[in-house]
Amino acid sequence: MNSGQKSSSAIVVGAGIGGLTAAVALRRIGWSVTVLERAPIIAEVGAGLTLWPNAMSALAALELDRKVEARAVETISRGNLRTPKGGWIRRSQPEDVGVLAVHRAELHAVLRSMLPESALHTDAEVLSVDGRKVLCRCAGEEHELSAELVVAADGVNSVVRRTLWSGSAVFQGRTAWRGVTPSGAVWPVEESLTLGRGVQVSILPLPDERVYWFVTANAPEANREYADEQAEALRRVQGWHDPIPALIRATPPDQVLHNDLVDLDPLDTFVRGTVVLLGDAAHAMTPDLGQGACQAIEDAVVLAASLNDSDLESGLAEYDRVRRARVQPMVAAARASVRRSSSTSRVAHLGVTLAARFVPPAKWRKLTARWSDWQAPKLP
Ligand SMILES: Cc1cc2nc3c(=O)[nH]c(=O)nc-3n(C[C@H](O)[C@H](O)[C@H](O)COP(=O)(O)OP(=O)(O)OC[C@H]3O[C@@H](n4cnc5c(N)ncnc54)[C@H](O)[C@@H]3O)c2cc1C
Repeated sequence: MNSGQKSSSAIVVGAGIGGLTAAVALRRIGWSVTVLERAPIIAEVGAGLTLWPNAMSALAALELDRKVEARAVETISRGNLRTPKGGWIRRSQPEDVGVLAVHRAELHAVLRSMLPESALHTDAEVLSVDGRKVLCRCAGEEHELSAELVVAADGVNSVVRRTLWSGSAVFQGRTAWRGVTPSGAVWPVEESLTLGRGVQVSILPLPDERVYWFVTANAPEANREYADEQAEALRRVQGWHDPIPALIRATPPDQVLHNDLVDLDPLDTFVRGTVVLLGDAAHAMTPDLGQGACQAIEDAVVLAASLNDSDLESGLAEYDRVRRARVQPMVAAARASVRRSSSTSRVAHLGVTLAARFVPPAKWRKLTARWSDWQAPKLP
């Protein structure tokens, strides 16, 4: 394992989408990178993801856009809106913003293919960070590593953030079930977002005739687990239009994921000395804008571009300035959106559906493109 004594070396904590993209981007500007992942194997959860044009611009800066496109389905997010009984509130329009729907595992595979195996260490849990020193339990043994830069991409419950910053995940009163159907089990399907009162369901086609679905619903308390998560997801959409119940039933029960929706209050900085926060560790947001992973990808490319253009201290200051200005309003917008989605009031729900029905396509585009009209900085 690289103990990182030479300059331009980084330790990346966490091999999620944020950590892997950061590792790829830093290597691209000539840094040597060690990724430490606590899980025994590097794998992404069995769920899908939408990648908006901003994330694709960042992936293009890494010359990965084509590889990802080849494993994704071009679709529209929030183009087709339906009522739980199946009526159409809105149909996709040519003006709508296109997104890519991809299986997380496939995005992961593309990112991993850009890294030498020697850069990735599994079963490597970071216990603490002190300046450039990282204490890690690797395969049961404690090691101290060091590098010029530590990138904390260890997710919303980041141990690095909890050590050097304050602030922990804030439960937003909502919970989500997610799954991907086996190839051809329920096919064909059309992308849609179905709006119930306090419950929403999103459906996205994936390559190989698979379908990614997720149900979001109000939850009175955090961390509630159900003996049968699939049955619980189904219960929330009883009587809803086809193919929603069929999609949930077709998903192997042990592959139905259940997570509460949490986010983070804004931090006053993403940088402490030579430690930098990235992705959900810095700015977890609820999935209402479909931008959490997209922002982690943006972070990675901006970090590498900032470090490429200046010395470490100025580069980190630039990253902190640019990224907080971009992402913190987004976290707030996602939180405001949660308030709307969680409302069970008939009047509020009617207001949302009427607005969706009558907003002209150009205005709809402007609203949905608010966060996705973004161009990545160039990398060498
Ligand atoms: C229901 C739902 C739907 C979503 N849909 C979308 C979408 O469509 N589009 C989108 O862009 N985003 C979406 N998101 C958000 C997206 O999933 C996250 O923003 C993104 O996965 C964050 O990536 P990350 O790499 O920052 O963190 P994570 O994915 O949480 O990765 C953190 C990694 O760090 C590792 N780790 C943690 N602690 C340690 C430690 N101490 N030592 C070593 N390793 C450690 C973990 O094992 C993990 O591998 C959605 C989220 C939810 C809940």
